[in-house]
Amino acid sequence: MKVKKVSDHIWSLKTWMIIPIHVWIVVDKEGLTLVDAGIPMMSNGIMKYVNQLEAGPLQRILLTHGHSDHVGALKNILSETKVPVYAHQIEIPYMEGDLIYPRRKKAEYNVAKQIAQPLQEDEHGGLQTIAGLTPFLTPGHSPGHVVYYHEQDQMLLAGDLFTSKNGKLHQPMPMFTADMTEAVRSSSIVKQLKPKRLEVCHGNSVLNPADQLKDYIQKMEKKLLEK
Ligand SMILES: [Zn+2]
Ligand SMILES: [Zn+2]
Repeated sequence: MKVKKVSDHIWSLKTWMIIPIHVWIVVDKEGLTLVDAGIPMMSNGIMKYVNQLEAGPLQRILLTHGHSDHVGALKNILSETKVPVYAHQIEIPYMEGDLIYPRRKKAEYNVAKQIAQPLQEDEHGGLQTIAGLTPFLTPGHSPGHVVYYHEQDQMLLAGDLFTSKNGKLHQPMPMFTADMTEAVRSSSIVKQLKPKRLEVCHGNSVLNPADQLKDYIQKMEKKLLEK
């Protein structure tokens, strides 16, 4: 597994399974947070790196969504350390198999019941910041997909809201995307937050993504009209 420090408080851990798969470790005064849990074979590497950081034990896991390549290491990690796992409340019934992900034929039982708990709302109807990370609902790739914004580092951990190649924003994988039109609409979060840097699960870093957003949306709108 390849580890890279991507900002003052955030490390990205990467493996390959046909495509790159990233998870992120975020250091904060409220303790260590893992964002997304990758695939099962990543669990040892993740825990090893948590120990190596010497910044205290893992305190929580935040999920961008419940697809199998984002929750795979949960079971092993939780057998070692009991930490709370959070996802958007819209996403939880899909990842537990009570609802079928849109455009899929069968229910997916990606996360056992009673493991994930809903991200809490704040008094303005947004989602509460946890350990320096503010979640924003960005549906489309999946119904309850969220991104996490680290304000201090101006870093957006964007999960599967996009993929990326050579520093450019690309669409999330069409085959696994519930509603591409909605996903493109959700990409406007980048304009709202103007992060200095954006990380995706399947791809490399994108600097100042807001600068490319107009082009991305135009390209995607054309693509969606052609369909
Ligand atoms: Zn996904
Ligand atoms: Zn994915």
